[in-house]
Amino acid sequence: MPFGHDMVHSLATVVELVNTSPSTGGEEGLSGLAELQAFVESRKISGVSTLTARDLGQVRMVREAFHRVFTAPDQPTAVRTLNALLAETRITPRLTEHDGHPLHVHYFAADATLAEHVAADCGVALAHLLVEGEAERLRTCSAPDCDRVFVDESRNRSRVYCDSRTCGNRMHVAAYRARRRA
Ligand SMILES: [Zn+2]
Ligand SMILES: [Zn+2]
Repeated sequence: MPFGHDMVHSLATVVELVNTSPSTGGEEGLSGLAELQAFVESRKISGVSTLTARDLGQVRMVREAFHRVFTAPDQPTAVRTLNALLAETRITPRLTEHDGHPLHVHYFAADATLAEHVAADCGVALAHLLVEGEAERLRTCSAPDCDRVFVDESRNRSRVYCDSRTCGNRMHVAAYRARRRA
């Protein structure tokens, strides 16, 4: 995909966030502040102060809005859903160099909450993806018991499973067994 490092990072963050949602077939992945803190650390989200229950509630709401973008049945719906999220998000573009990264743009305000930070950076990354006509890269796993989302970054847009080592492998084994039984 012709996307820069920041955008790839933000897309990976939104995928990881959405997949903590019970809407994707598993348990609530953000069940408390410890889980929220682990998410912040795993995605290296900078400038986050002490997290509160309010952050947890706000991040979960943003997460569900992003889930609706991923599962939109068509591009106009994805655009409308993302626009609704962006309209509620404080976005303040700012050039920055930090932690050894080259000059890049942050979209969250300097005093942003965690939810505002994620909504702004991931929202803008998804907006660019839609602008590039790549809405169909926003996918839901094809395994019957898995609704995790992913961004298909393959050249020929052929990826169908959220993770080739887990769901992909599982489905290949199931298909193999079905063939042997037949
Ligand atoms: Zn940065
Ligand atoms: Zn899956």
